[in-house]
Amino acid sequence: MATSPIAGKAMTVLGPVDPGTLGPAMTHEHLLIDFRVVFQPPEGASQAGLALEKLSLENLGWIRHNWNSSLDNLMLLDEEVAISEARHFFNAGGGTIVDVTSNGLGRDPLALARISRATGLNVVMGGGHYVGATHPPEFESASAEEIAEEIIRDIEDGVGNTGVRTGIIGEVGVSAPWTETERKTVQAAVIAQVQTGAPVLIHPGRDEALPLQILEAVAEWGGELSHTVMGHIERTIYSRDALKRLAETGAFLNFDLFGHDSSYYPLAPHSYMPNDAQRLDQIMFLIDQGHIDQVLLAHDVCSKHRLKQYGGHGWDHIIARVVPQMLARGISRGHIDQMLIDNPRRMLTFA
Ligand SMILES: [Zn+2]
Repeated sequence: MATSPIAGKAMTVLGPVDPGTLGPAMTHEHLLIDFRVVFQPPEGASQAGLALEKLSLENLGWIRHNWNSSLDNLMLLDEEVAISEARHFFNAGGGTIVDVTSNGLGRDPLALARISRATGLNVVMGGGHYVGATHPPEFESASAEEIAEEIIRDIEDGVGNTGVRTGIIGEVGVSAPWTETERKTVQAAVIAQVQTGAPVLIHPGRDEALPLQILEAVAEWGGELSHTVMGHIERTIYSRDALKRLAETGAFLNFDLFGHDSSYYPLAPHSYMPNDAQRLDQIMFLIDQGHIDQVLLAHDVCSKHRLKQYGGHGWDHIIARVVPQMLARGISRGHIDQMLIDNPRRMLTFA
């Protein structure tokens, strides 16, 4: 791997920093996002209007169940809302938010820089491309090398003329089944990782076999698995055997949906969304297996109903309410700090 000029540093939206200053970090969040790509209209004329209503106390119960069938819920477009919500994380002792709003989800470099200044939080901006449904048509004929050029420019020089630089390549979206253009965007992410020393973060489709297949391809293309994050572990990997095999690759495993406690999973109704207690079961299994140094934590806030001012848990949920559960269940303070501070610091440091 080529030594990059930012080797040994983490890249925030305000520039490179000493990774030792990052503090407790949430490694998969969206301060701002236009997530309408996952919108599913409610079925039947009598229900169609629900999709168009603003989130309110009257429809919050319905939205918590059908969170991707409300257009208003899928749009986090208000910078002031993001700032006041992110302050809850800062006030709880948080240090860094990794915003993996990649291309296709409305990434906004200058707004992220303003949110960082207003809150005092480090914000690390994502890069690369979300799932195929958001890819531009020219990706059909583009090569992975061509797609990688812009990802590399975003890291080395900043996005467009903003001067705001990507600090992590992700979330890089893969659907189940994995599409042709998504193979190119993952390979492009790997090319950019080799060139710049940046971490890569993957969003896998909902298929238990897929994360391992993706990591095998990343390794084949020359990527560094110990600098690659597999996301959404809890809603993708249900068997302990598969979890163990995935951990043995050496990749970081992100339990990034904390606070999402509604078991009905509209994107995969045949499956289910685990709750926080089940996330902790999986994490305690990994601790027993000796994989604590690969575990990362986050909420993946991507809709209004997860924010406090819309009746949600907010960005302080893990620190304020999950950590006490961890302690009560016997996870040590040292292991908690490792997941909140040490692992993200190592993950975000450029090689
Ligand atoms: Zn996400």
